[in-house]
Amino acid sequence: MNYYSTSDLRHKATLEQAVIKGLAPDGGLYMPQKIPVLPAAFLRNMSAMTLQELAYAVASFALNGDVPASVLHDIVFDAFYFDIPLVKTANGNNVLELFHGPTMAFKDVGTRFMARLLNYYRTRHPEWRTLNVLVPTSGDTGSAVANSFWRMPGVNVYVLYPRGAVNKIQKAQFASLGSNVTAVEVNGSFDDCKSLVEDAFMDADLNEAMRLTSAMSINYARIVPQMVYYFWAYAQLVRQQADVSNLVFAVPCSNLGNLASGLMAQAMGLPVKRFISVENQNNIFYNYVKTGVFTPKPTQYSIAPALDAGCPNNFGRIVDLLGSHEGICRQIHAYSYDDNQIIETIQQTYHDEDYLLDPHTAVAYRAMLQDLRPGETGVALATAHPAKLKTLMERIINETVDLPPQLSRFVSADLHVTKMNNGFTAFKRLLLDNAERC
Ligand SMILES: *Cc1c(COP(=O)(O)O)cnc(C)c1O
Repeated sequence: MNYYSTSDLRHKATLEQAVIKGLAPDGGLYMPQKIPVLPAAFLRNMSAMTLQELAYAVASFALNGDVPASVLHDIVFDAFYFDIPLVKTANGNNVLELFHGPTMAFKDVGTRFMARLLNYYRTRHPEWRTLNVLVPTSGDTGSAVANSFWRMPGVNVYVLYPRGAVNKIQKAQFASLGSNVTAVEVNGSFDDCKSLVEDAFMDADLNEAMRLTSAMSINYARIVPQMVYYFWAYAQLVRQQADVSNLVFAVPCSNLGNLASGLMAQAMGLPVKRFISVENQNNIFYNYVKTGVFTPKPTQYSIAPALDAGCPNNFGRIVDLLGSHEGICRQIHAYSYDDNQIIETIQQTYHDEDYLLDPHTAVAYRAMLQDLRPGETGVALATAHPAKLKTLMERIINETVDLPPQLSRFVSADLHVTKMNNGFTAFKRLLLDNAERC
């Protein structure tokens, strides 16, 4: 199957090209020429499947034979080794916990699949020698990407993060790994880290000397596995004999990759009545829904840091899928909450429903309660474990929050950090020196 660019419908790429490049040369996002629709019998049979079986079936349909069946089977079974439970709060509200992977954020789902698919392409290109993954991060992305590629032979990962701006546990989640993961502390902001990576992709010497790839959320290989859990939620509801005839998903949004994945699942035939997009005060998409005008803005820091994006980079996919502003408004109800509302929701839900929401999940949960109509079944997507922001959570609920084992092992871990001044010359030198040593 071919993939086109959302900026130039005539541009064509194979799945391999789309996944390795990430972004089309004209800056557009890759979309499949045809979205396969699942047979109705599949929906009926889903509830008898395990998560891995379901993930394999959905990925096979979505990729339509582009990856050999046995290869795809191994990639999917290895990527989806952790559970994605649909839990109920004391009041019976549904929360889909996407955070039981190795770094306890939903990004594990997308990055584990992407890493394994990229590795498959690497093994088919011995001339590349090593594949170099460059990733700027303010926390969640860096740890999920680093963990997904950790100890993979023939792959080097460079995680660039702003000095002083990443919380301690999140930093340890990538900076303690060592092996093929280099943590680069940049004396600058997150935007500086992003620019360094963008400059690297444009630099002729670097591209001559080494094979570079990005692991950003625009990569189609992250979208495919994220469709899976929408189907999985439906299957769990059927298993619980819940009414799925008016299904509504509430999604905490930043770069809109998660929401785009849900819309893709719907396009593949999953019966979803509508989606609720929820942002914090970085409410670019909310403003677009209300006004029809898309205006990126400088990022504002919040207590839900993974939602702090001033220019949601999967926006093009949403427009491509739903066609127009009108189409988007029919399918999506948009909400936006500030820090005080997030805190209030966490406190209230903890006291009234005995469920501890992390700040990202809290926005989705609040919007779900606000937006649902009688007769509808809502599912709020829970994108991070509350203990990832332990200190903040303890301040909010005034109680101790225990660290699960996946996180506690990082508390006293030794960090290996390469410090660097903010400047492209220094970054280029670092990459070239490492390339020579390999
Ligand atoms: C990345 C992230 C999001 C936002 O997902 P998008 O696909 O960028 O919209 C939400 N919550 C958490 C915890 C995240 O790490």
